Amino acid sequence: MPSVRDQVLLAGLTTLGVGGPARRFVRAGTEAELIAAVRDADQRAEPLLILGGGSNLVIADTGFPGTVVQVATRGIEQAAGPDADTVRLTVAAGEDWDGVVASCVAAGLSGLECLSGIPGLTGATPIQNVGAYGQEVAEVITTVRVYDRATGEVAELAGPDCGFGYRTSMFKRDSSRRRVVLAVTFRLRRSELSGPVRYAELARALGVPEGGRAPLATVREAVLALRRGKGMVLDPADPDSRSAGSFFTNPVLDDAQFAALQKLVGAEVPIPRFPAGPGQVKVPAAWLIGQAGFGKGHPGPGGARISTKHTLALVNPGGATAADIAGLAGVIHDQVRDQLGVDLACEPILVGLSL
Ligand SMILES: Cc1cc2nc3c(=O)[nH]c(=O)nc-3n(C[C@H](O)[C@H](O)[C@H](O)COP(=O)(O)OP(=O)(O)OC[C@H]3O[C@@H](n4cnc5c(N)ncnc54)[C@H](O)[C@@H]3O)c2cc1C
Repeated sequence: MPSVRDQVLLAGLTTLGVGGPARRFVRAGTEAELIAAVRDADQRAEPLLILGGGSNLVIADTGFPGTVVQVATRGIEQAAGPDADTVRLTVAAGEDWDGVVASCVAAGLSGLECLSGIPGLTGATPIQNVGAYGQEVAEVITTVRVYDRATGEVAELAGPDCGFGYRTSMFKRDSSRRRVVLAVTFRLRRSELSGPVRYAELARALGVPEGGRAPLATVREAVLALRRGKGMVLDPADPDSRSAGSFFTNPVLDDAQFAALQKLVGAEVPIPRFPAGPGQVKVPAAWLIGQAGFGKGHPGPGGARISTKHTLALVNPGGATAADIAGLAGVIHDQVRDQLGVDLACEPILVGLSL
C-alpha cells in the first residue's frame, strides 16, 4: 500500500530547500502504486506533481494545491544488447541516478561515466535530457517506458521519438505533463575505457587529448572533482550545493542575434561560444550573467545568492524562500535581457512561480 499523507512540507524534499506543503502526498514504492496514484489524482481532476529527487524543482512557498506523487520504485535489469559488446540496462524511475552511474562504472559499462555526480532519480533523466561534460542521456537511451495519462495505458517510447534536445525533451516541453516515466532503458558498451572525452576541461584534467579515452573509474573521479570545485555535487557541508544546479540554460543564438550581442559588448570583447548547428552558436549563460554585472556570491533577497563557486547556480544557504530565489533569478534575467538583449531560459521547473 502506498503511504498517503496530507500537508507534507516539500522544502525538505528539494535540494534548494524551498517550497510549501503538498495538499496530498503519496509515496509510490512500486510501479503499480505509481500508476494507481496518478490515475487516482487524475480521476479526482486534481493537479498532479511527480517528484523525483527534487533537484530540478523550485516549488512556491504556498506549496502545491493537489497531489504530489513521490517516485520510490526500485529495480535494475540487465539484458544482452544487439551486439556482443553491448548490454541493455533497464532502470526503474525511482533508482538514484548517481548510484546507477557508479555501478555501471564499477561493472565496466561505458556510456554514463561523464554524468557522474548529477543528483536526482533515473526517471527524471529523460525529462531534461540530463547532460554534463560532453555526454547526455539521449545518446544511450533506447526506450522510455511511460504511463500515458491521456490514454490510461503504459507505452514504450523509442529514444529517437522522445524529442530530445539540449536540456529538453518532449516530456519537458509538454506543459500538460502527460507522461509519467516508469523506467528507462540504456544501451551501454562493455569497456573499461570511457567513450571519447569531448569536453576540453575534462580532457585537460585527465591528461588526454579531446576525443581520447580514459579508464571509466578515472573519468568518474575527475568529473566528481571538477563538479565539487563548482559546488555541483550535493554536499551537506557545502552551502553552494544547496541549489537546483544551473539555473539558466546556455542560450543558442543565430548569426544575427550573435552579431547584435557582439555589437553591444564591443567588437574587441571575445565572446565564448560553442557550435550549435548550422548558423547557430551556444553562448555560456554564466558568461552573460558575469557580463551583466553579477559576480560569484552576488547577494539576493532573504539570503538567497549566486553560488560563490559558479555564477550559474542560485543557492539557498539557509533561510531563503522560493520567492527570494525567484526574485534573484528575475533580477538576473531582466538585467541580462536589458543590457545584452538575450532572454535567458530557466533550467529548473518552476511550480507555482514565475520570474
Ligand atoms: C547540485 C546540482 C547539480 C546538477 N547538475 C546537473 C548537470 O550537470 N546536468 C543536468 O542535466 N542537470 C543537473 N542538475 C539538475 C538535476 O539534478 C537533474 O535535472 C535531475 O535529472 C533531476 O532529477 P530529480 O529526480 O531530482 O527530478 P525532480 O527535480 O524531482 O523533477 C524534475 C522534473 O521532472 C519531473 N519528473 C521527475 N521524475 C519524473 C518521472 N518519473 N516521470 C515524469 N516526470 C518526472 C518532475 O515533475 C519535474 O517536472 C543538477 C542539480 C543540482 C542540485
